[in-house]
Amino acid sequence: MSLNIKINENYFNVKKNYLFSEIAKRVNAYKTANPDADIIRLGIGDVTLPLSPVVVEAMKKAADEMGDAATFRGYAPEYGYDFLREKIAEYYKKFPVNLSAEEIFVSDGAKSDVGNIVDILGDNEILIPDPVYPVYLDSNIMSGHKVKFIAGNRENGFLPMPDGIERRPYVIYLCSPNNPTGAVYGRDALKKWIDFANETGSLIIFDSAYEAFISGDYPHSVYEIEGSKTCAVEICSFSKTAGFTGTRCAWSVFPDELTVGENKLSFLWSRRQATKFNGVPYVVQRAAEAALSDEGQKQCRESIAYYMENARIIAAVLKEKGIYFTGGENSPYLWLECPDGMTSWEFFDFLLEKAQIVGTPGAGFGDAGEGYFRLTSFGSRESTLKAAERLKKLL
Ligand code: PLP
Repeated sequence: MSLNIKINENYFNVKKNYLFSEIAKRVNAYKTANPDADIIRLGIGDVTLPLSPVVVEAMKKAADEMGDAATFRGYAPEYGYDFLREKIAEYYKKFPVNLSAEEIFVSDGAKSDVGNIVDILGDNEILIPDPVYPVYLDSNIMSGHKVKFIAGNRENGFLPMPDGIERRPYVIYLCSPNNPTGAVYGRDALKKWIDFANETGSLIIFDSAYEAFISGDYPHSVYEIEGSKTCAVEICSFSKTAGFTGTRCAWSVFPDELTVGENKLSFLWSRRQATKFNGVPYVVQRAAEAALSDEGQKQCRESIAYYMENARIIAAVLKEKGIYFTGGENSPYLWLECPDGMTSWEFFDFLLEKAQIVGTPGAGFGDAGEGYFRLTSFGSRESTLKAAERLKKLL
C-alpha cells in the first residue's frame, strides 16, 4: 500500500538534468561505432592531479593521532576546529580582508552550503545568473521559490549586472570566476552589485569556489569590496583550490554585520549547522589546514599553474581562430561561441565526430548557454596538447 503522507511536491519541478547522461550516451555510441577512436575528454569538471605532499603528510599524521588514545578525537565541532577557522581567517588577510574565526563556518562542501543556505532563508525572490552552476536553481526550486534569471551574453561578457533590475529585495547568487563561463567580476562591477544589494536590502550569496585560479587584478573575495559585509555571504571551497573534490572541505563566511532586523544571519546558520550537520572529520580539517600553510599554498599553486597552462594552450587556439570566448585566464573553464551558428549539441557532435574531443554543451547550464560550449583545463598536458592540435586543424 502506498504511504498516505504529504511530500515536498516541489521536487517534481526540478528539471531532470540530462546533460552528463546524454554526453555519456553519445560518447558510448560513438565508441561502439569507432572502437579505435582516441577520444580526448575536455569536459571534465573535476580535478585530476593528486593531493599535494604536505596535505597527504598532514592527513597521515592526523590519522595516527586518531589511532592513539591520548590524541583521539570524537565528534568534531559543528562549525570547524578553531585551528582551521583561524587558518582560513589568516588566509583572507592576503587579499586583504579582515575576518574573525567566528565568522567562518567550515563544512563538507560548497555544494552543501549553497544547497543548505535555503533552509535559513524565507520565501524571497531569487536572482540567478544564466548560465551558471545548477545547484543554485535546483535548491531554490526544491523549496518552491520564485526564481528570475539574469542573463549572461556576449554583450555583458557573461557578467550580468544589476542595471534595469527592479529595485526590490532579492536573494542574489553570484559566481566569480563563473562556472561554466570562466568570466570574473572586476572591482567596479562587483561594487555595483554591492551597492544595489545595500540599497535594496538584498542578500548576495557569493560563490568563490574558483578564486584560487585568479591571477589578474580581480577580487578573490567579495569582502575586498567596500560595503559587502552588510549584504554578502561568501562560500568557498578546498575542492578546486587544493584538489579536495574527493576529500571534502569548504567554508562559508557570515560576517557579524550581516543582519535581518535585530538578528545576525550567522545566528540562523550556526543553529542550522549545529542541528543538522556533524562537522568535517578531524583528518580532513588537518589536511585543509596544511593546504593553507605557506608550503601547502605553494604546492597547490603548482597544480593550479599546471591547469592554467592547459587553459592557455586551448585559449591560444581559440584566439588564433578568432573564436569568441570567455574564461581561461582566471579560471579553469573556457566558454566559447559555437562556430557557424551551431547549437551547443550540434557542436558537441561535430567535435566528437571530427576531432574525437568531448566537451560540455552550454545549453546544459541554462537557456542563455545555448550556442556556447565549455572546455576545461583539468585534463593532462599530453591530452590538452593533442586536443589543441586537432582543434587547430578543424576550426
Ligand atoms: N560552486 C561551483 C561554482 C562549482 O562549480 C562547484 C563544483 O563544481 C561547487 C561550488 C561545489 O564545490 P564543492 O566540491 O566544495 O561542493
